[in-house]
Amino acid sequence: MKVYISATLRNFFGKNESLDVEAANIKAILDYLTDEYPEAKKILFDDSENLRGFVQIYVGEENKSDKSYWKEEIDAGEEVLLLPAIAGGAPVESIISDDRRKAITFDDKEVERFSKHLMLRDIGVKGQKRIKSARVVVVGAGALGSPVIQYLAAAGVGTIKVVDFDEVSLENIQNQILHTSRDIHRPKVASARDKVRNIDRSIQFEDVNLQLTADNIYDVIDGYDLVIDCTDNYKSRYLINDACVLAGIPLIFAAIFQFEGQVGVFNVNNGPCLRCLYPKPPEPGLVPTCSEGGSISPLGGIIGSIAANEALKLIIGIGNHLDGQILVVDSLYLHFRTLNVDKNADCPLCGFAPTITTVEDFDYEDFCGLREDEDEEPIESVEPDELARRIEANEPITFVDVREPHERAVLRFPNAIVIPIGQLARRKNELDKSVDTIFICKQGQRSALAIRTLREAGYDGSMYNLKGGLDEMKGIIFSHEGAWL
Ligand SMILES: [Zn+2]
Repeated sequence: MKVYISATLRNFFGKNESLDVEAANIKAILDYLTDEYPEAKKILFDDSENLRGFVQIYVGEENKSDKSYWKEEIDAGEEVLLLPAIAGGAPVESIISDDRRKAITFDDKEVERFSKHLMLRDIGVKGQKRIKSARVVVVGAGALGSPVIQYLAAAGVGTIKVVDFDEVSLENIQNQILHTSRDIHRPKVASARDKVRNIDRSIQFEDVNLQLTADNIYDVIDGYDLVIDCTDNYKSRYLINDACVLAGIPLIFAAIFQFEGQVGVFNVNNGPCLRCLYPKPPEPGLVPTCSEGGSISPLGGIIGSIAANEALKLIIGIGNHLDGQILVVDSLYLHFRTLNVDKNADCPLCGFAPTITTVEDFDYEDFCGLREDEDEEPIESVEPDELARRIEANEPITFVDVREPHERAVLRFPNAIVIPIGQLARRKNELDKSVDTIFICKQGQRSALAIRTLREAGYDGSMYNLKGGLDEMKGIIFSHEGAWL
């Protein structure tokens, strides 16, 4: 069975988050653990061999810390969790100075407007003044930015800057609750401005309708207390992380994908950064970099609300927070897990001997090997219209779909064989050199990578890339469905 070790106990168990243990009951698990990790023994047990009061043992959802449960048989499929009663970081100091707090005053209207916070002992007048004096940048006005921006505005954050270069489109409305059908074709920052104005006109709101680059990011975040990363791509995430670390600005990281979300706090109290966790972005071909993946509608609300809550706690200086931790939320099976992120002494950005000392525009396409190399033979592509004509004419063509299963579930390409990029070289004999092979992905980038991969593996059949991918082709597919499927 799997035994999960809570973050604060992990150092005593070889830093393992979980261990596979073969045992029939809790007694046997504890015997095994204390044999394997003798140091853990004095943490778990006192001198009389009793489980210490602050350690809890859960089997599934049930607390089984009491010795009377320890001989009960446990199913091999159960999850066992070792949890200290007091988990989490040290109390936080506010990221807003006392001087700035003292400079803030409230009029009668504000006292009424902020009364829900003023009546809380842990926030009160001092906390609310810190909130009003706070200056926060939110990057991304999409699914995550939507709740973040609205909660910051409602809570009374005095200065909010929203950065996004995108326009609202119909497909955004389902999970980006900042925007309505009337906002379609408007810049996302424009609907953000409207919403914030409707909440509280006295908020200093700045919209920045541009894409962040190494050239402009310092200007965008300079003078702000906190940055909240609500973007959806690696390029922005690493740029924001690097700039925040180099400029010494705390960062809240929020991400969603399908049914899972992550939120964490970086660069606070000399804590870790994104690169401590992932020194480099994922390897090429391993992730659907140009796929949007989709997410269930309320997930942005769940994760974004937690991010906004973390932001307010950092501003006020209360509670435990996700500094050095990542909260992973599985909304499908309702698992909430907090994973520890240790500061990495070898981190290329915030470690002892950093190799990254300036922000750079990190070109993900280039990094992924997707960009055309000048020395390389160019990749031939086929336009969607042309492909439709050839299919109608029943020309013999082999289609290879290199997308992820979840993408194929949304839109199947008729009569395509499915080969993940990682298996292409090994499975090249499945292709018929006597006919043209056309490679398909969502936007035409991974399919180009597929062709390059096969060339490198020595395949010399004629290969074409579907230009623009299925995003360009789907209108034609839907209109031909009857004939093609
Ligand atoms: Zn780091």
